[in-house]
Amino acid sequence: MTGLRDGHVVGGRTSDGVVRVPPPEFDPVTHAATTDFVGVASEGTVVSWTWVPEPVKAQPLDHPFAWALVKLDGADTAIMHAVDVASNDAIHTGMRVRIRWAAERVGAITDIACFEPADTAEHSESFSADEGSAEGVTGVITPVSLDYVYAASPEESAFFRGMAEGRILGQRCPVCRKVYVPPRGACPVDGVPTTDEVELAGSGTVTTFCIVNVPFLGQRITPPYVSAYVLLDGADIAFLHLIQGIDAHDVRMGMRVEAVWKPREEWGTTIENILHFQPNGEPDAAYETYEGHL
Ligand SMILES: [Zn+2]
Repeated sequence: MTGLRDGHVVGGRTSDGVVRVPPPEFDPVTHAATTDFVGVASEGTVVSWTWVPEPVKAQPLDHPFAWALVKLDGADTAIMHAVDVASNDAIHTGMRVRIRWAAERVGAITDIACFEPADTAEHSESFSADEGSAEGVTGVITPVSLDYVYAASPEESAFFRGMAEGRILGQRCPVCRKVYVPPRGACPVDGVPTTDEVELAGSGTVTTFCIVNVPFLGQRITPPYVSAYVLLDGADIAFLHLIQGIDAHDVRMGMRVEAVWKPREEWGTTIENILHFQPNGEPDAAYETYEGHL
């Protein structure tokens, strides 16, 4: 990565004499750390390729291009990267290509913007792997994001539509009479559909909980805070939510709590309509009342 930042490609010679690009961290035969680094050229030969007629977001090029395996001069293995050519007629196996470097290099594979046709058959200048700046790249930041669409089942859809009206809706198993919230659509014990809709109160009992002390990216509440299973009155499975309005260290099993809703105008089809649960002032529930729901 340091080489890329400095505009060089570095491979690693492993115990079998093969120059591998990028260098493996460990020798595949001896399992020793790779220490023999070798500079290779920024020009090479297309070994194989495939055409991408419709690039998708975050691919190296925003117009049709080829993914290719390119064996750089001086290397024994090929690396995969994009080749910028006008059409699939303009690329072929054995074609000479060279690296088009990114305008700004930071020490990441994206420092190679793509490959482009090399006009001459001359080998590009090689260099020593020892060249370059003394300060090595020690880390790479790889941003990752994941978008997904959640498709609610008919039962979950009813639950979320209930949420938009300030109601907590569960469903009862017609065989064992257990009430599931949010509804699952079927009783896992009896294997039958849960058909009876049950509206639950916003009050319940803390069964188990944890105090969150660890900060993490995207956290909305400053630690310490409590995430708890709340067994709503009339339900048979507990509901995971936050406990606020009390010092985190005072939360306890059996504590009676109530839902605190957002202002009505902010309600949507989401469980986030309930901001959190807070103590409702009732005496703690006896352990026997929830021991079967832990
Ligand atoms: Zn059942």
